[in-house]
Amino acid sequence: VVSAAHVRKSFGDKEVLRDISFEVGSGEVTVVLGPSGSGKTTLLRALGGLERPDAGVITVGDASLDFGELTPGRHDRLPRGQREQLTALGRQSGFVFQGHNLFAHKSALDNITEGPVVVQGEDPQAARERALALLDQVGLSEHADKYPFQLSGGQQQRVGIARALALRPSVVLFDEPTSALDPETVGEVLQVMRDLAEQHWTMVVVTHEIRFARQVADEVLFIDGGVVVERGAPEQVILDPQAERTRSFLQRIL
Ligand code: ATP
Repeated sequence: VVSAAHVRKSFGDKEVLRDISFEVGSGEVTVVLGPSGSGKTTLLRALGGLERPDAGVITVGDASLDFGELTPGRHDRLPRGQREQLTALGRQSGFVFQGHNLFAHKSALDNITEGPVVVQGEDPQAARERALALLDQVGLSEHADKYPFQLSGGQQQRVGIARALALRPSVVLFDEPTSALDPETVGEVLQVMRDLAEQHWTMVVVTHEIRFARQVADEVLFIDGGVVVERGAPEQVILDPQAERTRSFLQRIL
């Protein structure tokens, strides 16, 4: 469902992603671990069509793009066909950010229906019914009409997850979804993510929650210095890491 092949990305003369390749099967959960600045966010943004790699092929769902073949230069100067391909890639994924990404002046329900109605042209009533079902799924039926400021950080993040799911993405991309939360609300967000994994959503999760990675991941990817240092089953990468860099990272965070 998701694959990256030989993806590279530099900012100025700093090479942030250096020949990254991996794939995620349908219904599988990949957790991406790595030190700060290792390129995790950049990789996730590239998968979601939010960042344009310099080279490499990214495939998500039925959209695929060879970034090495894109015309260099500014996004808004791309030939129309290429811009449409980028948009098509972006529409394959739902993105869950660190937090604070809801529209402050819209209710939980309206935050969820916005994308389907405005971007995807879904009938508002149908979108509303789906949004209510999604709110139920993340345990927030009672809070449909509340505004973000009336919700806890964990509740806001659960709305953020429902909003991502409402787009019917091929993959849900999570960028440190619990790192901005109060400790007491982290668990409820991780629980929703566990539920999604059980329902066989395809997910790529950047997180430092090692316990979550051990319990939920089908595969763990350890990234450092813009390369995949190690990948494999969680028991292998977390409990029996082969690379020195993985070992010292895990010692620091455990
Ligand atoms: P963290 O855990 O701290 O979020 P990360 O592994 O997600 O780190 P990235 O956010 O992908 O790392 O950043 C990797 C490197 O790329 C960092 O050195 C960062 O400063 C740099 N970088 C990221 N985005 C940009 C940008 N738009 N312009 C210039 N440099 C950038």
